[in-house]
Amino acid sequence: MRVKSESAIKTVPSFVYHLPDGAESGQYLGLELEENRLRAVLGNITDGRLHHTNLDHKIYELPLELRTSGEEFFNHVAQCISDFLDFVGLKNTCLPAAIVVAFPCRQTAIKKPAVNWTKCVEIRDCEGPDVLTMLREAIDRHATFNLDIVAVVNDTVGTMIAAAYDHPQCEVGLIVGTGVNICYMEEIKNTDYEVRMEDFPDDKKEISWADNSKDTSEQKICINTECGRIGDDGSLDDILTPYDIQVDLNSLHPGKKKFEKLTSGLYMGEVIREVLLDLTRNGLLFKGHDHTSLQTPGLFHINCLSQLESGHVGVLQLRSILQHLGVGSSCDDCVFVKEVCCAVSRRAAQLCGAAVAAVIDKMRESRGEDSLCITVAASGALYKTHPHFSTILKETAKSLATQCTMTFVTSDEGSGKGAVLIAATDRLKHQM
Ligand code: BGC
Repeated sequence: MRVKSESAIKTVPSFVYHLPDGAESGQYLGLELEENRLRAVLGNITDGRLHHTNLDHKIYELPLELRTSGEEFFNHVAQCISDFLDFVGLKNTCLPAAIVVAFPCRQTAIKKPAVNWTKCVEIRDCEGPDVLTMLREAIDRHATFNLDIVAVVNDTVGTMIAAAYDHPQCEVGLIVGTGVNICYMEEIKNTDYEVRMEDFPDDKKEISWADNSKDTSEQKICINTECGRIGDDGSLDDILTPYDIQVDLNSLHPGKKKFEKLTSGLYMGEVIREVLLDLTRNGLLFKGHDHTSLQTPGLFHINCLSQLESGHVGVLQLRSILQHLGVGSSCDDCVFVKEVCCAVSRRAAQLCGAAVAAVIDKMRESRGEDSLCITVAASGALYKTHPHFSTILKETAKSLATQCTMTFVTSDEGSGKGAVLIAATDRLKHQM
């Protein structure tokens, strides 16, 4: 693979070349690996359909203390998978499986993920392509089951693939939760990626399938934009407030993921906290009330922000929510807090909408079309649960990409269903 030009936004090829088309069949395991949980999904594709009822799933917590050592972490993941296979009664079959990860994943092939641990995970002894090796070794150590892991992809890719099964025009995946990211289908001929056999001696089958199944002028590849990194080259500096700069400085990775720090659920609450702290220091808020808990990082979770902005919540309820967080307030304080939350979430939603518009308009231009009809698969806690976020995001995206018609679909089954379908598509590809 050759990347011809340098860009501030380091997009990543996902090595997913096409969307499911209904020809898939069989039983597959999908694993969603997030910063604090593993969701295991068993998909059973019968009679050409993957029905909602054909998905069994279980969620496992990933304790904080395990999220630093690769060996302990993957031993735990293997134990969770073992439990799930017992749960679905499939311990003795070597199921084809695919993993979706909620982390940046620089890949050289679909089975060669260089996962970059971010968010609150820092597994220092396990970066790069070793992730899959470490999981395989942990499964070997566990020695009670086997899996045929056929793919590792980013969670946006899983989300897009899941929705594309029911909505064939779905070629964009968007997640706005603790992190933010967008993926989309791009014609290979419009990218700087060139698939060259000699770069992948171990993956000839995969690459030759990509090369030969179709004329490359028609072929597409799913691109993971990792758009959370927009601004890392300083391009967003003009719009950063002192609060954003403080949130960045306080974060685990200062200087990185500037766009994500303006838009995602993990940081939005922190921006709000910095604004409120500043107003309090200047004697404008919480006068005569105990507000020491405002000093606590991570005080405002996505759920709490959603409640604070809900149209159904009156001033007394707002006071009780704040009281619950350890912040005493007057009625005026509450109204002000709500205003701050609205301003910060509106900015985040508008920025995400602008990013979606930019990607979709780029797709239109790349395809040489005057107009484009596209479906976006959207997921993530902020997008799904916040009372106004998704509305503002959609309005902004539509108002900026005026030559495109967009439909947004929300998938409750999320990226785990996508993982199942990616495993199924991989199986089909090897039968071709
Ligand atoms: C990660 C992306 C991921 C997104 C949504 C971001 O922090 O960099 O890879 O897709 O979160 O989970």
